[in-house]
Amino acid sequence: MAHKNIFERLTAVLLGILSVLLFAMPAFAQNSKNELTVGVPVDRCPIFYIDEKTKEITGIGADLMLSAAESAGYTVKFEKITEPTLKEAIDNSEYDVVMPFGSAIESAKGKKIVVSDNFFQTPFTLVTLEKREVPRLNSLKVGMLKSQGGVVQTVMERFPHIEVELYNNIDESVKALRKGEIDALLQNSYVWSYVLQKPAYSDLIVHPSEMFSMDFRAGAPDTEEGRAIINRLNGGISHISDTQIQAVTLDYTSRKLYKYTPSDFCYKYGLVIVLGALLLLAVLVITLQRFYSIRKDHEEKIREIIDHDPLTGVLSKTGFRKRVEELLRENPGTPYFLSYNNIRDFKYINDSLGRIAGDDLLKFWSAKSLENLSDKEAIGRINADRFAVLRMISSDKDMRRDEEVVFEPVQNFFINQGKDNRVQISSGIYVLTPDDFKNIDFDHMLDLARVAEKRVREEHEGDFAFYNPEQWNKGKRVAEIISDLSAAIEKDEIEVYYQPQVNYNTGRITGAEALCRWKHSKLGWIQPSEFITALEEAGLIFELDKIVWEKVCKDLRKWEDIGYHRSVSVNVSRGDIREDRDICEHFNKLIQTYRLTPDQLRIEITESAYVESPELIIEATKKLRSFGFKVEMDDFGSGYSSLHMLKDVPVDCIKLDLHFLTSSGDPEKSHTIVSCIIQMVRMLGLELITEGVETVEQARFLQSMGASIMQGYYFFKPMPLEDFEKTLREYEKD
Ligand code: C2E
Ligand code: CA
Ligand code: CA
Repeated sequence: MAHKNIFERLTAVLLGILSVLLFAMPAFAQNSKNELTVGVPVDRCPIFYIDEKTKEITGIGADLMLSAAESAGYTVKFEKITEPTLKEAIDNSEYDVVMPFGSAIESAKGKKIVVSDNFFQTPFTLVTLEKREVPRLNSLKVGMLKSQGGVVQTVMERFPHIEVELYNNIDESVKALRKGEIDALLQNSYVWSYVLQKPAYSDLIVHPSEMFSMDFRAGAPDTEEGRAIINRLNGGISHISDTQIQAVTLDYTSRKLYKYTPSDFCYKYGLVIVLGALLLLAVLVITLQRFYSIRKDHEEKIREIIDHDPLTGVLSKTGFRKRVEELLRENPGTPYFLSYNNIRDFKYINDSLGRIAGDDLLKFWSAKSLENLSDKEAIGRINADRFAVLRMISSDKDMRRDEEVVFEPVQNFFINQGKDNRVQISSGIYVLTPDDFKNIDFDHMLDLARVAEKRVREEHEGDFAFYNPEQWNKGKRVAEIISDLSAAIEKDEIEVYYQPQVNYNTGRITGAEALCRWKHSKLGWIQPSEFITALEEAGLIFELDKIVWEKVCKDLRKWEDIGYHRSVSVNVSRGDIREDRDICEHFNKLIQTYRLTPDQLRIEITESAYVESPELIIEATKKLRSFGFKVEMDDFGSGYSSLHMLKDVPVDCIKLDLHFLTSSGDPEKSHTIVSCIIQMVRMLGLELITEGVETVEQARFLQSMGASIMQGYYFFKPMPLEDFEKTLREYEKD
């Protein structure tokens, strides 16, 4: 009995449990989880957006959803949808619910969806550009966002006449609006309240009348589970009161949610930023300038101190070295000497007359020397009582003046003060050679001057000695030549001699080379070998050559006037052709002035010039030839040019100098070389003139090799104009 009772009770309990389970099953099946994953777009501030601080999805929509879900017993996890539109998001099974939807549309894959009750009405408004009239609704073209697929569908259903253009983002849609591609933008009013805070959109205005309002619903796939969730959510939604909705919307729309980006700042405060930046830049530049100028001043002061001798004010050894190097670079070829001057027994002066007296002497000497120097000269105190001077060589008269105005007063410095003490100076002089300009070695030059000074001191012979007396005479001659050039040009001391060129086969004169001669008022006739190099080194050759060329043109004109069309070769030095001088233009002007043709001037440029600065000279040669001048390569065989150079150098004629090829070495070999050159020149199709022909044997040999145009003492020496004209007349008679 008892057993039966227990059995019956047990059965009743089991049945009870079973019936409870059976009853509860559908509810379990429908509502198996209490956490909802809600997919939302986050570019809809203030509806849905990511809070900057918490990094969580928030907004009006989020708050309302949270509230409804809580009432329905759900906790909510918001997920940012990664799909471009809500229609696509709904197909993603990771989200339980997606929102916001206006109505139950189809998913992208064509699946049905089920939507919740409406959370609240969101007004949609048009935004246009300021002052733009909005056309009537049925002919309106509006811009919306691609992600608003659902809304777009609603709009098209409600307003079939409206044309909708879709854009990736607000910025693109605003651009299209500005371009006039669309009439207005359509967007949720709450979103507008956020977006229009952007300064760059200040010209957009919300169109006064609200266009329509859209439901704000959550959607889920139309499945059993989806429907269950939506059902349960609807319960929660019904608990949301109007006041709550108003409070939430007011809260979010009144927050200053829009954060200025750097570009917003630039837009809004552009001018201020630019002005500020300019101001900052100006301050920076001024500060830097001041900094550098202070530093420069400082450096200059230090340099001054290093470069100058504090006692006398003349250059220190360092300063003097720099200045000498500078002067030699700036004035190549100038005849200079470097003297090393030493006061004998300076120690005795200091000891007997006092240090101050010694210092005064040094100051006096410096001052006197400085007075006497030009700005192309320099004096430096090398140490104690030793001074070095870089001075230009001048005439004997000027050198004597140095004695009178510098050395004698120094020697008599104490005597003039009534003291019986004559100062003795010993000087060593080194005369600079052309090599010293090419390879400037200050210490070496100073050493050589010092050697000469030492000799003076030790041998007790006179006050000065030259290290290289022979160079002194050359230097003096060069100094004279250089300083006399302009006077010579003025006094018409430069003359042109002509050396005829003959065709040995016919015996006729075919041309002539113009060679200059200088009839110096004091030195008599001087040969080019003496002054050309000096003028070249002193950079004065162009001054002379201009005169020679012009005289030649004058003579050519004179011959034209009496019916002879002749041509003359003129010499062009390396120094005539410079980057900053258009030699071709110079010749062009000359022939225009004298009404000549370019073929009347044959321009001789020495072979070594082509080797030294090939590009410059080749360029000049090309230009000259393009204007019709004939260009001859002078002194061929004199230098170390390689034969292959000939193929790059565009000359018309080669002037072969026999002198260079036959003056030394084995005569047999010289013959061979000359004949080879002649053959080569002929094969290259160039003209050939052989110069320096001194004997009949040479002339015959050249003739046998097929070289007929010759120039040399065997035929004629260079001669003055009158003799040349006489010679021409005689030759032209036959
Ligand atoms: P160069 O251009 O090679 O001129 C030929 C030189 O050889 C001339 O010397 C001429 O007198 C000399 N000569 C001619 N035939 C013979 C000969 O058979 N045997 C020997 N041993 N010598 C002969 P010159 O007139 O003393 O001129 C020397 C150099 O000075 C010229 O050499 C030329 O480079 C230069 N020169 C002359 N006049 C001028 C000029 O007006 N301007 C420039 N820039 N240079 C010139
Ligand atoms: Ca020549
Ligand atoms: Ca020559």
